[in-house]
Amino acid sequence: MATFKAIRIDKAEKGTTAALAQFDEAELMEGDVTVAVEWSTVNYKDGLAVTGKSPVVRRFPMIAGIDFAGTVLESSHPSWKAGDKVVCNGWGMGETHLGAYAEKARVKGDWLVRLPDGLSARQAMAVGTAGYTAMLSVLALEKHGLTPKDGPVVVTGAAGGVGSVAIALLSKLGYQVIASTGRTSEEAYLRELGASEIIDRNELSAPGKPLGKERWAGGIDSVGSTTLANLLAMTKYRGAIAACGLAGGMDLPASVAPFILRGVCLYGIDSVMCPLPNRQQAWSRLATDLDPAKLEQMTQEIGLDQVIDTGAKVLAGQVRGRIVVKIA
Ligand code: NDP
Repeated sequence: MATFKAIRIDKAEKGTTAALAQFDEAELMEGDVTVAVEWSTVNYKDGLAVTGKSPVVRRFPMIAGIDFAGTVLESSHPSWKAGDKVVCNGWGMGETHLGAYAEKARVKGDWLVRLPDGLSARQAMAVGTAGYTAMLSVLALEKHGLTPKDGPVVVTGAAGGVGSVAIALLSKLGYQVIASTGRTSEEAYLRELGASEIIDRNELSAPGKPLGKERWAGGIDSVGSTTLANLLAMTKYRGAIAACGLAGGMDLPASVAPFILRGVCLYGIDSVMCPLPNRQQAWSRLATDLDPAKLEQMTQEIGLDQVIDTGAKVLAGQVRGRIVVKIA
């Protein structure tokens, strides 16, 4: 019986358990492409899955991990053949479909994106779902018509994965970036990524007025709740905020004032079911618009055996930037 190493989640009497275990190849789920997984990453959602803190896993047994980069081993899908380098993220991997913390994955060929020229498999996972979500957010702001001459942009959860990549991308594109963080000790790191101003997240986390002083033309928010409400209240006339996260809460105690008095737009960013053409655009822009030296600077490497502990640290806000997981 062929087996491979994987982080396996099982249902327990109370909640779930997670462990590095051997997984039977015969248990792989349906799919027309089998991939040798080389690199994965630890995102916020992976932290929720491996700790069982939130019910993101909805099928048991599950292999955790929402994204991978690797090489196609076998394919009956017309777009893919053995040897192709691919990236996969979202689509329910690690939630309803067996995921990425494994030496092998079987998925639908329609879920895969070709590893873009200019990115190695390791770099693609240093970007990971967090970085790709940051890029989707930048693309939403660009589609809105935002340009660097409109004024500064704000990034919340700045020292986290989405935040770090968002700062590096926006600064490379010429924006003046204001970074909001609870870790002001990370000021030097955030400035090296490209932030020109650092603000304490406490400035944005308390309930504020429906409209505040206009401070930024746009923003990328991975925090939600009162932080997002305050971001909207302080956005300049006809500006835009891309909302992609809930690290501070899922609620949105906002008023309509920014929308109806300043024409502010709020864009929702979903990475999981995002259509393929948008994914391809995001990954190809990441290959050209993200400074590889900055990506390396924000990235730490771990092994499969460190994923569970690291997931807990991500949820505790103790991880800076991005984590790559070496699988092969
Ligand atoms: P990280 O844990 O790497 O970063 C989150 C950051 O948010 C932390 O580093 C911290 O930044 C800040 N933060 C944490 N807790 C709080 C709090 N209570 N109040 C205010 N700020 C807080 O996670 P990711 O960057 O990977 O993900 C960020 C968010 O985006 C998550 O909610 C995640 O679920 C979501 N997400 C959504 C996706 C989508 O498809 N829409 C895809 C990927 C992620 P600092 O220390 O600088 O304050």
